[in-house]
Amino acid sequence: MTDLNWETVWVGMGSNLNQPIKQLLSAKSCLEQSEEIRALRLSSFYQSKPLGPQDQPDFVNAVCTFETQLNPLDLLQFLQSIEHKQGRQRLRHWGERTLDLDILLYGNRVENLPQLTIPHIEMLNRAFVVYPMLELESTIILPTGETLKSKTLPTNDLVRLDSINE
Ligand code: ADP
Ligand code: MG
Repeated sequence: MTDLNWETVWVGMGSNLNQPIKQLLSAKSCLEQSEEIRALRLSSFYQSKPLGPQDQPDFVNAVCTFETQLNPLDLLQFLQSIEHKQGRQRLRHWGERTLDLDILLYGNRVENLPQLTIPHIEMLNRAFVVYPMLELESTIILPTGETLKSKTLPTNDLVRLDSINE
């Protein structure tokens, strides 16, 4: 098999229903089982306040990075299939969910498709994305050529949970 087409991607993970840490670990296992994904690394888990309605549980967030041979749209479809397998329900906008998987970065690619925007449109506004990414790799360069480190945000209510993801 050719080794030419592996791209490094970053995926944001979030859950605030049905045992969030288990949801994220289960998603990690699903990703690792794909033959088109290799070298996956998962950040620590972080607890964050919900962005939308406040009458919902806090979120647990993490990011993972891996190499993949899936193109961006096939990766999106694969992530959505994992969300659905884990019983994702969309109850309300920015509301509670069992699992949310977002493509943050896909190599240096910039995509503006109806169903897929890369880099993720909100990633630089979200401490629960930026800090876990920097934890895994402090030297990330954005497609603009800027460093992610230069984009740091107030940590707000972000709390790093103990390392329980090994
Ligand atoms: P959100 O993640 O904004 O809370 P959803 O997970 O319900 O909302 O996603 C809504 C739509 O966002 C998806 O159907 C998908 O087509 C689109 N989308 C656009 N860009 C991305 C991306 N980078 N990663 C994941 N989904 C994306
Ligand atoms: Mg999403």
